[in-house]
Amino acid sequence: MKAPDFDYLRPPTLTAAIALLVEHDGDAVALAGGQSLMAMMNFRVAAPEALIDLADVTELQGITRLGDSLRIGAMTRYVELAHAPEVRADLPLLIMALPHIAHDAIRNRGTIGGSLALADPAAEMPALMLVLDATIEVAGPDGTRLIKADDFFLGIYETALASDELIVAVHIPVARPEQRFAFHELAQRHGDYALAGVAVAQSGAHVRIAFFGVADRAMRLRTLESALSNAPDGAAVQAALPLLDGIEFNGDTRASAGTRQRLAG
Ligand code: FAD
Repeated sequence: MKAPDFDYLRPPTLTAAIALLVEHDGDAVALAGGQSLMAMMNFRVAAPEALIDLADVTELQGITRLGDSLRIGAMTRYVELAHAPEVRADLPLLIMALPHIAHDAIRNRGTIGGSLALADPAAEMPALMLVLDATIEVAGPDGTRLIKADDFFLGIYETALASDELIVAVHIPVARPEQRFAFHELAQRHGDYALAGVAVAQSGAHVRIAFFGVADRAMRLRTLESALSNAPDGAAVQAALPLLDGIEFNGDTRASAGTRQRLAG
């Protein structure tokens, strides 16, 4: 199918992009890489009156070091992340996860901001932001606000972003020497959306764990984190597996809720 008719707008600045969102009062949406949005429009799952292409908004581009964090512009594409020296040096968990996000053609266009705004429950980026304690910078008609990743993902395709706000950037603390990271994903084929995935960051005795692909959103499981902090060895992991009952696992045509729970374990 083809997308329904829409107006195409290409603002030159962040202020102009937000003004267009306000003007269209919920009937316009941002276009980033288009890798999810255009498919949704072609399937007629989404039918916005106008698309606001963010390609020329320079405020949404670039990667800069700010103190102990990297500030990554929302329009940074996966392929740029994978090759950025700062990301390669300071965000090893992202480098582990990026090859699991779709395929080259999609990684050439898809953006970090688009993934976070979409909040697909099976996407990798939201889980990484939870584990890395990232902060999402958003801008709207009333100015800029910072939202912790823990407060950003609310449900299936649902975030704390208002309809007249845009993600501007994400601030991710750089890895410290004592930190260790792990990433594991199970999918039907490499590059497909995850059936179950997990990202882990260990800082000394403390462990942060986020699952994706298993429930209505990427989520940390605090009881599991507490159980594995201080004693993150194989025996502790086995003993903690019943804590996965704390997740309301999704079932669908690809995998039942029970299968997803076993895969998550
Ligand atoms: P778009 O499609 O342009 O936009 C997505 C949504 O975000 C829209 O609602 C848009 O309005 C909104 N948006 C975009 N930017 C902003 C912003 N700055 N502020 C506010 N709202 C914004 N993704 C994965 O994570 N893992 C996968 O394994 C995976 N596999 C895929 C396989 C296929 C075959 C395809 C087609 C896609 C797959 N994707 C996967 C999705 C892909 O990663 C998308 O690119 C990504 O989810 C959305 O990024 P985008 O830049 O393309 O956003």
